[in-house]
Amino acid sequence: MKEKQKIIIVGAGLCGCLLAICLAQRGYAIALYEKRSDMRKSTIGAGRSINLALSNRGLKALQVAGLKDKVLKETIPMKGRLIHPLGGEKFLSPYSGRPTDYINSVSRPGLNILLLNQIGEYDNIDLYFDSPVTNVNLKEARIEYLSYGGKKTDNGTVIIGTDGL
Ligand SMILES: Cc1cc2nc3c(=O)[nH]c(=O)nc-3n(C[C@H](O)[C@H](O)[C@H](O)COP(=O)(O)OP(=O)(O)OC[C@H]3O[C@@H](n4cnc5c(N)ncnc54)[C@H](O)[C@@H]3O)c2cc1C
Repeated sequence: MKEKQKIIIVGAGLCGCLLAICLAQRGYAIALYEKRSDMRKSTIGAGRSINLALSNRGLKALQVAGLKDKVLKETIPMKGRLIHPLGGEKFLSPYSGRPTDYINSVSRPGLNILLLNQIGEYDNIDLYFDSPVTNVNLKEARIEYLSYGGKKTDNGTVIIGTDGL
């Protein structure tokens, strides 16, 4: 039954990619549309990228997809912020009252790329780059999108928006 249900996901950012993986693991057919080009093929300037602080909530979501340990290998533990007061001594302001606690710094594009690579392992996920979705009919689960400058449509059972907006 699930194989016959096609879920259209709009946006291959962090949420869209992870959601696609979780649903694919449950046997759904996924069509994932992303307006940008494949970030694995374009260079991202260090100045335009900012690390994410991955806390327990994010790790739990990754664990559901079986990716927690894989992602943790890419992280740097952060115990707190280093404060540089004007005219004073710098000091560490811990994120938690418990000295053993920390959050995990991870490259945002690095995490996105890890998820995109993971998607490649699922035959039931079709991923379309350079394909901005321009119109959505939720009732009929139909989208319009642009591909190579032309207008196209796709139909599913359900549409889920993970476009970050
Ligand atoms: C500067 C900054 C720092 C942050 N720091 C942290 C942090 O430290 N820790 C943390 O947990 N969170 C942080 N966040 C929040 C975090 O970035 C978001 O929670 C996360 O990126 C949301 O993921 P998303 O997949 O919903 O959206 P996004 O990552 O924005 O992905 C949305 C995707 O949808 C695509 N898209 C949009 N419109 C369309 C369309 N019409 N058709 C097709 N594709 C479309 C976009 O191109 C994009 O790839 C930060 C955010 C910012 C901006």
